[in-house]
Amino acid sequence: MERTDLNVAVSANPGLYLHIPFCSAICPYCDFAVLTGGPEKRRRFAEHLISEISLWAPDRQAFEGIDTIYFGGGTPSALTPDDITRILGAARESLSVQDGAWVSFEANPEDVNPESVRAWRDLNVRFLSLGIQSFDADALRFLGRRHDPEGARRSVETARGAGFDTISIDLIYGLPGQPFEIWKRTLEQAVTLAPDHISCYQLTFHEGTPFGFHLARGKMTELPEEEQAEIFLFTHEFLRDQGYPAYEVSNFARSPEHRSRHNQKYWHHVPYLGLGPSAHSFSGTRRWWNERKLGPYEKRIDNGERPIAGSEELTREDLALEALMLGLRIVDGIDLSEFQERYGLDLRRRNEPLIERLVQEGLLRSEGALLIPTLAGLAITDSLARDFEIKSE
Ligand code: SF4
Repeated sequence: MERTDLNVAVSANPGLYLHIPFCSAICPYCDFAVLTGGPEKRRRFAEHLISEISLWAPDRQAFEGIDTIYFGGGTPSALTPDDITRILGAARESLSVQDGAWVSFEANPEDVNPESVRAWRDLNVRFLSLGIQSFDADALRFLGRRHDPEGARRSVETARGAGFDTISIDLIYGLPGQPFEIWKRTLEQAVTLAPDHISCYQLTFHEGTPFGFHLARGKMTELPEEEQAEIFLFTHEFLRDQGYPAYEVSNFARSPEHRSRHNQKYWHHVPYLGLGPSAHSFSGTRRWWNERKLGPYEKRIDNGERPIAGSEELTREDLALEALMLGLRIVDGIDLSEFQERYGLDLRRRNEPLIERLVQEGLLRSEGALLIPTLAGLAITDSLARDFEIKSE
């Protein structure tokens, strides 16, 4: 396939998300739509995903000119390259996908070997995201991961040899009782491997997961807030000093062309089509989501229906609030003129005293038409948007 370089700036073209729900075992903190299953079950799922893609063929113009395809999960590397080839082929045949569409692919370190990375690279995967999570053996055991620190390091080195445009690694911090030193060492080892992109997520105790259950019963405790904030600030400053400035609250890239082209669409309210169990879609004014469990998902497709489980129409106010929350998570911030044009609200005029206060408190910077969260602002991004007024006068 020809490699067409797309503009590095966030494109307004839609993205395609494909959810591959299989994992070899379920990690105790995970709340994604995931399941285990052997080759037959995986193959049957791939057939259903292909059928779901073809159910969108009559409406392909609703997502015209898709320029990013993201295989997420679960573990996309749980499917064979042959299945991935057929899924990509179906997307190109039934949907409006640009020739140079940027393909991103999540893989677990234990699935990385010279043959698998060559196969993914041959499929024109350009952004490979590795679920490393930690370089510490105790942390990996605690998180229920199947790889060890050596396997994690080897996977990055093996992937590098295959020539992906961007190699990304995911890391998790905030493990209960984990000494700060261990996290620092994990970050040091990460930068030593020189990936192009790093994502750092704080461990979350989701209700309904084993970790959520332990937390509710007092058998586990979350890190105190001050400690979480300290780790957050250290992580951002350390990675920035090592040449990985943040571009979103949890995402760091060696340079702008290594940013995740697909994920940036979510943060900039660009439409996307999500297929596979639990996948969400966004049209610009409407959001809908698929059946979460594999059984109902496959059954609906067997009946010739799209497996949509629910949807919501978003009002101008809903969209403005989302855009505000998303904009305060990215280091580029919010372009107020663009915001007004898109959501019909003069955010600055409506929130003048609040913005002044947040600027004085060092949480926001106001630069011309831009409203930019500072590092201190990013650290509390979830509460930063709370006091803004987004209703029209
Ligand atoms: S590998 Fe990832 S998606 Fe699979 S269970 Fe673990 S955390 Fe969840």
